[in-house]
Amino acid sequence: MKKKQEKKLNRSRDYYRHHRERAIARKVHIYTNIMGNDLMEYRNGRDFPTFRGRFSKGKVHCSCKWCKYEKHYDLEKEKYKAKKNQMKKEIEEYVSEWHR
Ligand SMILES: [Zn+2]
Repeated sequence: MKKKQEKKLNRSRDYYRHHRERAIARKVHIYTNIMGNDLMEYRNGRDFPTFRGRFSKGKVHCSCKWCKYEKHYDLEKEKYKAKKNQMKKEIEEYVSEWHR
């Protein structure tokens, strides 16, 4: 059996550095300015700076009403609304073909 060929992405180290840093910056912003932590950690009886690289993995959420607008006001997200409308249209088309 032939092995499925994987598509190779030729992306430079600079590309990955840029996007890693971008993701870290977003999470550090939430962690410090919104959750109100400072970037220091208490270990072995001493304060150490938190390694920023820690935020390259995992998730840091913000659930304020600006970030989770639809949830706060109990609205339907635009992408689901569009999908629903499309499905409705298809059903209507199918039914209209029946009644010819
Ligand atoms: Zn927020």
